[in-house]
Amino acid sequence: MTTESLTVGVLALQGAFIEHIHMLKRIPEVKEVIPVRTEEQLNSVDCLIIPGGESTAMALIAERCNMLEPLRKFVQKKPTWGTCAGMIMLAKEATGAKKGGQQLFNALDVVVNRNQFGSQKESFQTMLHLPELVGEEPFAAVFIRAPVIKEIKSPKVKIVGRLEQKHGQTEAETAIAVLEDHLFATAFHPELTSDDRLHRFFVNMSLKYKQQN
Ligand code: GLN
Repeated sequence: MTTESLTVGVLALQGAFIEHIHMLKRIPEVKEVIPVRTEEQLNSVDCLIIPGGESTAMALIAERCNMLEPLRKFVQKKPTWGTCAGMIMLAKEATGAKKGGQQLFNALDVVVNRNQFGSQKESFQTMLHLPELVGEEPFAAVFIRAPVIKEIKSPKVKIVGRLEQKHGQTEAETAIAVLEDHLFATAFHPELTSDDRLHRFFVNMSLKYKQQN
């Protein structure tokens, strides 16, 4: 098996998947980018990005397309990056979930809180230092009705990004990016600027995983 190139899937049921696809196409190690809507497509990728959007809608569509169980299985063992709504989907538990609860992929051992910063008009952009992910140069992070990591449930979860300033009621230092084994989650939208460093980070992480497994 070749280890220098990667087939990356982007879950394309709902949300900002096109922007991720464009970003990935700029990275030389990415051999192919596949918008994933079926189990067959899911089985053909080395790793997966779950985009931002609306987690309740994404869960309903996944259920209707019979993709909930295949996705739950995939994220148990393959590198997956959840961004914003994707981070909610990856989590084992979400607060602020819709009445009656919502389906999640139940992998990342954290509790996330949905819509932490309020409505769309409370969206903001902020500079973050993410040295373990992208080096010393700050990263412009766009938060749109974003969640945060409210609680970490396992020592395997490593916080790799925190808010640097207070935003509304949300304290500085609140965790907004984590790693756990083959899982990566960010509360913001990394695909909405031209900075592809986080996509490169995820591609490298997935290549390493492919080499070792
Ligand atoms: N608030 C959305 C949700 O709960 C997430 C917003 C986003 O992905 N930009 O799913």
